[in-house]
Amino acid sequence: YTGKTGSELLTENIKKLKVQDYQQVPVAVNEDASIYDAITTMFLEDVGTLFVVNEHSCLTGVLSRKDLLRASLGQQRLNEIPVHIIMTRMPNITVCRKNDSLLEAALKLINKQIDGLPVVKDTEKGLEIVGRITKTSMTKALVELTEENRFD
Ligand code: ADP
Repeated sequence: YTGKTGSELLTENIKKLKVQDYQQVPVAVNEDASIYDAITTMFLEDVGTLFVVNEHSCLTGVLSRKDLLRASLGQQRLNEIPVHIIMTRMPNITVCRKNDSLLEAALKLINKQIDGLPVVKDTEKGLEIVGRITKTSMTKALVELTEENRFD
């Protein structure tokens, strides 16, 4: 018997959760893709955050739903404007890595007030995108922490 309270055990278990066990598939578009293409991709792939990559498939930006809505307002030529004009760009992208704790990632989402983070791997050419952590990842983790609450 460890003498630990239920809440101490819960905290320990939460801290053990890793990004790699909750990450989802990332969806990326090229920097030269048009805003129109990005909107189409967001609908077809059913994601709320798109990552933007360069010719080396390395992370250069992020596009949220509101970034695309804002760019669309009163704009006729969505087919002609590349996403790199409107994206949030490196180095201002908040990222996480697969071995990070899920709690750290959750704190980044809260502190930066964003919906998603790219899970990245460091390479010589830049950051390769290997996954995606979102508020949905956090909801799933919460449910999984209590076995009897599995409804799926
Ligand atoms: P929305 O804008 O649809 O509410 P977010 O809250 O995720 O969605 O995004 C808010 C702003 O933060 C957007 O301009 C977006 O480009 C930017 N953003 C989203 N994710 C990240 C991230 N991981 N790092 C830096 N900026 C981000």
